[in-house]
Amino acid sequence: MTANKILFLVIDGVSDRPCPELRGLTPLAAAKKPVLDKLAAEGVCGIMDTISPGIRPGSDTAHLSLLGYDPHTYYTGRGPLECEGSGIHMEPGMIGFRCNFATLSPQGLITDRRAGRIHDTQALSEAIRKEVDLSGFRVEFDFRSGAGHRAALALKGKGLGHCVTSNDPKKEGVPPLKVKELRQTQADQKTADICNEFVKQSSEILFRHPVNVERVNKGLNPANIVLMRGAGEMGDLPPFEKKYGLKGSVISAASLITGIGTAVGLEHIPVEGITGSQNSNIKGKIRAALAELRSKDFVLVNIKGADESGHDGLPLQKKAFIEKIDEEFEPLLALKGTIIVICADHSTPCCIKDHSADPVPVIIRGEGVRTDDVVRFDEYSCAKGGLCRIHGCDLMPIALDLINRAHKFGA
Ligand code: ZN
Ligand code: ZN
Repeated sequence: MTANKILFLVIDGVSDRPCPELRGLTPLAAAKKPVLDKLAAEGVCGIMDTISPGIRPGSDTAHLSLLGYDPHTYYTGRGPLECEGSGIHMEPGMIGFRCNFATLSPQGLITDRRAGRIHDTQALSEAIRKEVDLSGFRVEFDFRSGAGHRAALALKGKGLGHCVTSNDPKKEGVPPLKVKELRQTQADQKTADICNEFVKQSSEILFRHPVNVERVNKGLNPANIVLMRGAGEMGDLPPFEKKYGLKGSVISAASLITGIGTAVGLEHIPVEGITGSQNSNIKGKIRAALAELRSKDFVLVNIKGADESGHDGLPLQKKAFIEKIDEEFEPLLALKGTIIVICADHSTPCCIKDHSADPVPVIIRGEGVRTDDVVRFDEYSCAKGGLCRIHGCDLMPIALDLINRAHKFGA
C-alpha cells in the first residue's frame, strides 16, 4: 500500500547544541520521548539544512523552504506574511507591516513599547479602520489586531514602495521616529508619507478611544500609538494546490506561520487554547490535524514552545516541553495512509538564545518508506540515518514521491 496524504509536523527550534546543564547532551537527546523515538525507528531519518549549510534561518524563510518555495525568490519581508496571518488577504503588490500598540505620553514620548501588554485590541483596530482616512493618497488600507499588543497594517494602491524605515525608536523615553524612505524614489516617499499620516490620525483616534480612557483611569498604560516595522511588498506565491495538486491546511498559533500557510492557499484551522508557548493545547492541535487529514491531502502543524525555551536559554524547560509534547503525539503512531514528516525549522540553541544554522533532525515515516537503523529522534542519531543530509526544499519532492505524486523527469 502507498500513502496518499502528507503531514508536516514542525517542532519549531527544537534542535540545539550540547548543553552543560544536560551533561553535554542536547535537550532532544536528553529527553524521554518514546513516541518520537518509535516514529524514528519506523521511518527513515536524516539531518537537514532548512535553507543551506551555514545559513541561519528565520522561521518564515525556513517554512517557505520546507513548503518548497525558495525563500531567495519568494521572501519579501515579514510584514506581508504577518498581515496574512492576522486575516488580511494580501494581493501581490500590497505593502504589509508588522505593528505594535504602544504608549505615547502627553509629552510625546514612547513610555511603553507594548502598551502594558494589552490584549483584546479589536475595538481599537475597528475604530482605526473606520475613522482613519487615507483617501487623499488614493490608497486603501486594512488594519487588524494580532495576538496581544500586536497588529498588522496593509496598504493597497498604485505607486507604493516598500523600502521605508520604522517609526519604532526601539527604546522608551524618547519620541517615536518619523517613517522615512530608504531609497530616493517617489514610491518609497509616498509610502513613508502615508505611514506618517496613518500614525498621526490613528493616534488621535486612540487617544480619545473609550478603551484607552478606561485604561488611564485604571492606571494602565493606554494603547495610543501604532509602531510599525518589517515593511515588505507581497510577492506572487504560486498556490500550493496548483503547484502540487494537493489541498491543504495549516495549524499554528504563530501568525507568521499561519500567514505563510494562507499566503500559499492552505486553509487556516483555528484550535482553541493554542498559545505558541509552553502551555499550548498540543493535544487539540494533533486532534485537529488528524481531523483535517480526513478531507485534505496535506496538513502543516507548527509547535512553537521549544523555540521559546531556546530563545530564553532554558535547556531544562526545553527538555520538559519535548517530553510533554511527545505524550500528545501518541495518536500519530496509529496514523495510516499518511507520510508523516517530523522536523524543526531551524535550531534554537539555548547557549546562543537565537536561531543557528546547525542542521535539524528529520523523520519521514509512512507506508513504503525504506527504513534505517536509527531508533532515536535527536541530532546525533538522525545524522546516521538513511536520508543522510538534505535541504529543506528537498522535503516536498521526497514526500510527493512517496505518495506517487512526483512528476517523472525524462522518459
Ligand atoms: Zn522557527
Ligand atoms: Zn525563534
